[in-house]
Amino acid sequence: MLRGVGDMNHVKSKYIYLFFVITVLTTLVILGCSSRPNEAPVPQKPTINEEIQNQEPREEQEPIEKESDKDVSPPEADNPLESGNDPLESLEPTQPLPPASLSPALKSPIPILYYHSIDYEEGNELRVPPEEFEAHMEHLSQNGYESVTLDDLYQYFYAGKDLPEKAFVLTFDDGYEDNYIHAFPIAEKYGYSGTVFVVTEWIGGKGYLNRQQLLEMNQAGWQIESHTVTHPYLDSISTEQIKEELLTSKEVLEELLGKPKVAFAYPYGVYDSSIIELCRETGYKMGLTIDRGWAGPEDPFRMKRVYCYAQMGLDEFRRRVENANY
Ligand SMILES: [Zn+2]
Repeated sequence: MLRGVGDMNHVKSKYIYLFFVITVLTTLVILGCSSRPNEAPVPQKPTINEEIQNQEPREEQEPIEKESDKDVSPPEADNPLESGNDPLESLEPTQPLPPASLSPALKSPIPILYYHSIDYEEGNELRVPPEEFEAHMEHLSQNGYESVTLDDLYQYFYAGKDLPEKAFVLTFDDGYEDNYIHAFPIAEKYGYSGTVFVVTEWIGGKGYLNRQQLLEMNQAGWQIESHTVTHPYLDSISTEQIKEELLTSKEVLEELLGKPKVAFAYPYGVYDSSIIELCRETGYKMGLTIDRGWAGPEDPFRMKRVYCYAQMGLDEFRRRVENANY
């Protein structure tokens, strides 16, 4: 009996043991299941990483968008703030890029006036009578304009220098002697200085500035820069000849004036990307075109200028110095 009872107890304890084991296993299984949701963020993390990775290509694309903005920017040159807004909008998701990319866009364009001869010759609009030139300078003076040099302009666009609120640059092409006889004293009268782009083979020739006049103007704060040796159409001569025009004119002026020459004005306004590359190679930092408009920071070798000519009239002069896209 006892054995029987003992057997019975033994069977019971087996069931209890089995029940216990099942209960423990079930609990473990339930715990195991409930612990999986806690692990769920682990596989989610790569998903977040993927999102981050997805954003990176967008960052890389933005400079491309900015480049295309730049291509469009010339017509918007009179709206520097507008063109500055585009990068801001496109850059919202990625903060590290804006400061570097925005700084050039916020630089306002500046008018670079360009004249040739300041003298009398009826029917030749390249010769601006001294009285007309003086009327231009007087207008600028009475309206608070201040002349800055090309060096100042370069520093402003690319090195953080400040400029007066109403700044302009005064330039003369070809190096006519009347620049010294007429333009120089008139500009000085209003506290202005300018830049003369000389053709070095013409220095001292009849009707052109001589070495002494160039030195005197340079000492008074005027910049003397290169307009080649012989004033050729740069797109009709060989690469070697272009280099020769760029280098020799630069060396002649540096030897005469004892200062590095950094700016170049394209004869007849002719330039292309290979000519620009040669300017860079030969040590220039700026190329001045005769393209219409004010100069912006977009490209130092494609500086636009404001054409000033005989009998343009004060209204037209005023329109050009008040509107970047006149
Ligand atoms: Zn010229």
